Amino acid sequence: MRKYEDLYRHKGMRNQLVSLLREKGIVDEGVLEAINTIPRHFFLDSAFDAIAYEDRAFPIGEGQTISQPYTVAYQTQLLQIKRGDKVLEIGTGSVYQATVLAQMQARVYTIERQKNLYEHNKGYVFKSKYPNIKFFYGDGFEGLPTYAPFDKVIITAAAPFIPPKLIAQLKVGGYMVIPVDEADGSSQRMLRITKVGENATTEESFDLFSFVPMLTGKNG
Ligand code: SAH
Repeated sequence: MRKYEDLYRHKGMRNQLVSLLREKGIVDEGVLEAINTIPRHFFLDSAFDAIAYEDRAFPIGEGQTISQPYTVAYQTQLLQIKRGDKVLEIGTGSVYQATVLAQMQARVYTIERQKNLYEHNKGYVFKSKYPNIKFFYGDGFEGLPTYAPFDKVIITAAAPFIPPKLIAQLKVGGYMVIPVDEADGSSQRMLRITKVGENATTEESFDLFSFVPMLTGKNG
């Protein structure tokens, strides 16, 4: 059984990470507070304690990654999370992003397509602290029609296009934050889609990022 300890030195490393994120332009205090609160090292193998607070992505098994802290902060800031927001996340992965949203008092519905990651997350360390995260095994391109509509949708894998079913599951006035493949496939442009009417959206374009691919269908 793994022992989870959040020590003074971890808190120190989190403080430094938060300072770095401020320098890189993150201004949403709710996002910064969440990152300062959540022990990111609990989401990685215990051998990678210090690396957990470097601003970099990291493998979590099954060829998947925990997103870079800056990327998590960036996407979350674009979502403009308000207490009680109902948020759909595609790509549960390590659950770190979902935890940031939950710490900000969102109601999180997160989908993972890899069976073993989904099964692994049944042992999520903060289950009792964040009952506002609900876990699903499925194909994110389908979303969760039973639980729709959502105030916000966040995609944490490289999307080949904007999934129409996820737009359909967004409330009017809601945001989707999604990294969409560039034409040459080398990186993804972060987009924020606003649903301005039942059949109308507007789009804002932000920086380039690098994500693992959003794949169709379930695995496992
Ligand atoms: N949000 C995660 C980062 C995940 S990496 C975190 O905070 O750690 C991207 C994840 O998306 C991977 O776990 C991958 O298996 C998952 N994924 C890729 N395509 C998917 C799809 N169509 N539906 C659901 N999950 C998907």
